Amino acid sequence: MALVTTKEMFKKAYDGGYAVGAFNVNNMEIVQGITEAAGELESPVILQVSKGARAYANHTYLVKMVEAAVQENPQIPIALHLDHGDTFELCKSCIDGGFTSVMIDASSKSFEDNIALTKQVVEYAHDHGVVVEAELGTLAGIEDEVQVEAGKEAYTRPEEVEEFVDRTGCDSLAIAIGTSHGAYKFTAAQCTRNADGILVPPPLRFDVLEECIKRLPGFPIVLHGSSSVPQEFVKMVNEYGGNMPDAIGIPEDQLRQAAKLAVCKINIDSDIRLAMTANIRKYFVEHPDHFDPRQYLKPARQAVKDMVAHKIVNVLGSDHKI
Ligand SMILES: [Zn+2]
Repeated sequence: MALVTTKEMFKKAYDGGYAVGAFNVNNMEIVQGITEAAGELESPVILQVSKGARAYANHTYLVKMVEAAVQENPQIPIALHLDHGDTFELCKSCIDGGFTSVMIDASSKSFEDNIALTKQVVEYAHDHGVVVEAELGTLAGIEDEVQVEAGKEAYTRPEEVEEFVDRTGCDSLAIAIGTSHGAYKFTAAQCTRNADGILVPPPLRFDVLEECIKRLPGFPIVLHGSSSVPQEFVKMVNEYGGNMPDAIGIPEDQLRQAAKLAVCKINIDSDIRLAMTANIRKYFVEHPDHFDPRQYLKPARQAVKDMVAHKIVNVLGSDHKI
């Protein structure tokens, strides 16, 4: 199977009550970990590249590694997606350079400017057989070059979604219902603490999601910033010399619930970073004499694979859905 768009994936996911995971890729071990898990579990998967990933690893290297993953896992559909494209030129460059899906994130602009830029990208993308994700509403948090201060985020206004999708022709829509980028999604003041002293974030706004679904029946919804920041990995980082106080994410049961509704794509990045870092820290402490990068990148890659397998089975519900 060659690289595919997300069109068919989303249709099946919508009808089947599950979501497809979109995982950010930055290097070979991450690409391998994700696609080995998806391949073994026969799950569709979206590999996404941010502007920062392109700056770090180079467009050509990323595309060629993804092509290798497609060749190694012919049994599953794989899409290659631009995460948070912020200009027409960046989207065009990815469309021309082999991506099958792009996101144009003009969510920080006015409603009219967001529509104009999204429409421009949609026209070019559709002419080239590529699909487009757009965004309405803004998420808090930090993700590569996207940074929104806590308090400046805004939930998606459901009364705007029909007009936006109608006028832009976008293929999927990222909405803001309380998810957030990064591993520090909420300040302590926004949360309560459980009996163990762990922060508990405010619940996702399912009322906003339901209202969007009602206005866009059959249309794929996307959730960004949907890592859960599992506390066992935060603990592991802190135990082996790290310092990540009060890192928290979105509870997995809430994401599972969203995946059963119209949410067809769930973005997960921080949990992969966290799992890799925790395992590399542990390895360094336990093997201070080792210096071959393969020795510590091997458990790091395995940690990516285990994390993605866990997400596919327990959060997304996309296993055996090809
Ligand atoms: Zn995002």
